[in-house]
Amino acid sequence: MKQQQQHATPRRFDVLAIFTSTSLVAALGVPWHGITHGYHPGLWVLLGLMLAWNGLSITAGYHRLWSHKAYSASLLPRLMFALGGALAVQNSIRNWCADHRNHHRHTDDPDLDPYSSRRGLWYSHMGWMLRDYPATTKDYSNITDLDRDPVVAWQHKHYLTLAFSLNILLPLALGWLFNDPMGGLLLLGFFRLVIGHHTTFLINSLAHAWGSQPYSDQNSSRDNPLIALLTYGEGYHNFHHTFQWDYRNGVRWYHFDPTKWLIKALSWCHLAHHLKQVAPEKIEQSRAKMQLAYASAQVLQSRPSNKEQWLNLLEAEYEQLVHSLNAWALCRQRKLELKTAKLKQRWDETELHHQLQELELNLNRQRRHWRLLTQQFA
Ligand SMILES: [Zn+2]
Ligand SMILES: [Zn+2]
Repeated sequence: MKQQQQHATPRRFDVLAIFTSTSLVAALGVPWHGITHGYHPGLWVLLGLMLAWNGLSITAGYHRLWSHKAYSASLLPRLMFALGGALAVQNSIRNWCADHRNHHRHTDDPDLDPYSSRRGLWYSHMGWMLRDYPATTKDYSNITDLDRDPVVAWQHKHYLTLAFSLNILLPLALGWLFNDPMGGLLLLGFFRLVIGHHTTFLINSLAHAWGSQPYSDQNSSRDNPLIALLTYGEGYHNFHHTFQWDYRNGVRWYHFDPTKWLIKALSWCHLAHHLKQVAPEKIEQSRAKMQLAYASAQVLQSRPSNKEQWLNLLEAEYEQLVHSLNAWALCRQRKLELKTAKLKQRWDETELHHQLQELELNLNRQRRHWRLLTQQFA
C-alpha cells in the first residue's frame, strides 16, 4: 500500500527539467565551447571564486548559520550567503532549513526525514527532489525563528528573480568582460551550478553511507575526510549529527573544514559572533563510548572463553576515564570562572593551578591505558 502511494506521488517536472537541462549543457556545451573557442584564464579564476561563493553560502549560511544557529552573523555575510544560496539554486533559505531541521529531527526515518538514507543512495542524493513526497511537503512550523531575519524573508520573496539574475545575467556579464559572454554563461553558469549541486548532494547521500562513526551509531551519518575535501568540510557528518550546533564539523585543527575557517575569520573581522563549541570533554566521552562499544563487540567475537573478564575490564577503564575527564573539566571550569570574575587570589590561583596540573597528568595516564586497551580490539 505504502509502495503504491509512493508511485502515485506526482513528479516535479520543473525540478526534473532544471537538473536535466543543466547537466546536459554542462556535459556537452561546456567541452564543445572549450574545443571550438577555448576559455580565457580569467574565467577559470572566476569559476573558482564562484564555486566557493556557491558552496560556502550553503555550508556556512544555509546550514551552520540558519539551520543550526551555530553562530550569529552581521548583515553583510547574511546578504552574501542569501545571494550565494540563490546562486546555488538549492531553494530559498526557508525551504532549505525547514527540510534540514526535519532531517536532523527524524534522521533516517523513511517517512519523515526528507532525504532519508534508508530509501537508498539515489533517493538521498537527488531522488527526494524529483517527486512531491510527504516528508518534503512544506511545513514551516520548525523555522518560525527565521522569520525574524529580514534577509531570509527578502530572499524567499525574490528567490526566482535572484536565481535567474545570478545564474544567467551575472555569468553573461562576467563573460562579456573577457569578450566571451557564451563562455561565461557555460562555465560560470551551467558548469559551476552542476558541480555545486552534486557536491552539496553528496552530504545527504555518501556522508550517510561511507565512512566511520567515531561519535555515535544512533543514525547512519559518517565521518569521511575525502567527502570533506569535496564539501567544504561537511564530510565530518557523524560529528555534525552528534553535535549539530557546533560551528565546526571537522573538530580537530587539521581537519579540512574551510567553512569552519571562514566562520572563524568572519569572527576576527567582527562579522560573526557567539560561535558555539561543544565542551572538549563531551566530545572525548562520546568517542570513548563508541570505542567501548566497538571493543565490547570484538571481545564477544574473539575472546568468548573469558569474555566476562575483558568486558568488566573495559567497563572499569571506561568509567575511570570518564571520571578523570569530568574531574579535569570541572577544575578547568572553576579556573576559567575565577579568571573571568577577576576574583582570583594569588593563593587560590596557585592551588587551583597545581590541582589542574595533577588532574591533567592523571587524565593523560588514563588516556594511555584506554588507548592501549582498546587498540587490542581495533
Ligand atoms: Zn545539519
Ligand atoms: Zn545528515
